[in-house]
Amino acid sequence: MVAKKPRVVVVGAGVAGLAAACRLCAAGADRFEVAVVEAGARAGGRVLTAEFAGHRVEMGATWAVRPTPAGATAGEANKELEEIEEALLAMHINRERTDTSADDLSALDLAAEGEYRDFPGEHVTIPSGYSRVVDHLVAALPPGTVRFGLRLHRLDWSEAPVRLHFADGAPVIAADHVILTVSLGVLKASLGGKDASAAGAIAFDPPLPQFKREAVARLGFGVVNKLFMEVEPAAEAPEPEGGGGQPPEFPFLHMAFRGHVSQIPWWMRGTESICPVHAGSRVALAWFAGREAAHLESLPDDEVVRGVNATLDSFLPGPPRWRVKRVKRSGWASDPLFLGSYSYVAVGSSGEDLDRMAEPLPRGPAAADGRAPPPRVLFAGEATHRTYYSTTHAAYLSGVREAERLLQHYH
Ligand SMILES: Cc1cc2nc3c(=O)[nH]c(=O)nc-3n(C[C@H](O)[C@H](O)[C@H](O)COP(=O)(O)OP(=O)(O)OC[C@H]3O[C@@H](n4cnc5c(N)ncnc54)[C@H](O)[C@@H]3O)c2cc1C
Repeated sequence: MVAKKPRVVVVGAGVAGLAAACRLCAAGADRFEVAVVEAGARAGGRVLTAEFAGHRVEMGATWAVRPTPAGATAGEANKELEEIEEALLAMHINRERTDTSADDLSALDLAAEGEYRDFPGEHVTIPSGYSRVVDHLVAALPPGTVRFGLRLHRLDWSEAPVRLHFADGAPVIAADHVILTVSLGVLKASLGGKDASAAGAIAFDPPLPQFKREAVARLGFGVVNKLFMEVEPAAEAPEPEGGGGQPPEFPFLHMAFRGHVSQIPWWMRGTESICPVHAGSRVALAWFAGREAAHLESLPDDEVVRGVNATLDSFLPGPPRWRVKRVKRSGWASDPLFLGSYSYVAVGSSGEDLDRMAEPLPRGPAAADGRAPPPRVLFAGEATHRTYYSTTHAAYLSGVREAERLLQHYH
């Protein structure tokens, strides 16, 4: 007789979900029956390499480790030029807002932020695109493990087996264990109340317990977006200095906005830099955080182009030098599968909330012998890692952690 293998359904084919599935499958084909259900049509989640103007661009994660946040100092104070000092401070604040995803830095719990750790090692980009890492993870799974177009909309975890109900009438799936890797944004939308019918929300039956709901509600989940611009020299651009027939190179602009910026729209003033994606490239990138990032998602392309051109004209004096041909931007906040970009420890929350995010359900110990009950719903994803939250390595490590939890359970 062949023993029935425990069935594990991983929800979400982002880095956390794929890491969990890979670890479970690597334990041996006889250990678990593993499926990954993904609402979208692709794997990778917040890792997404796209094509734009002949370049590979990263719409989500860029760095293989998180960039070190810049200190919020305005450099050497220049007493005569208080205005410049303020502008520099605002520039650094914009950088910090992007690094943390907090719209307003006063919303950050600085003590808890101190628990955040940079992953040791160099910060690198992946020349063939971050999505290649995802491709490798998918390729390590048995064919057919990842199933696309299955959006979980109700999770009945009242008893074993757990039952997963999907949108659009796809058949219900029963599982001994579910590893849930959806974003903190999706979990926030799932809390009910005024957001009960929010796009992307999952109905939990029974509702998530109080400790989990509170952790979800307290932690911060901000918006960070990227704007890629294809640029070309303006018709009226002067010859580059030095001449020599060399094509002009788009400059690395780090922008301290000062009084002269009335013609620059408010949302453009939230970016710290407009830089070519590499020296000499005709594709430039600007990062936005918070309300500016959210607003950027709502604008038509021509308004974005006008805003960037006005900014370039302000920062590069003389006749217009550069014009934006077209733009491509991310839209993480309005995508119901993400509802934001990455998490931060908001004032009122703490590292313990990140640990609570990681706790499986039902909560133990329940049995007389003090052993934890079998975990029916397990949680992975960047927002469940106490020290590396907001990163791909947090996502990866959290997926492995939950797979290990199940391996341990069946030890
Ligand atoms: C603009 C931006 C820049 C970033 N830069 C970096 C960086 O440089 N370095 C770094 O380390 N990290 C960076 N990050 C963060 C990093 O991308 C994320 O932390 C990581 O990818 C999160 O992975 P995850 O598996 O936890 O979640 P996700 O990638 O969100 O995966 C969750 C999956 O669940 C799916 N899903 C959602 N709802 C459902 C449902 N109801 N049913 C089924 N499936 C569902 C989603 O479609 C998604 O595929 C960046 C993120 C953004 C947005």
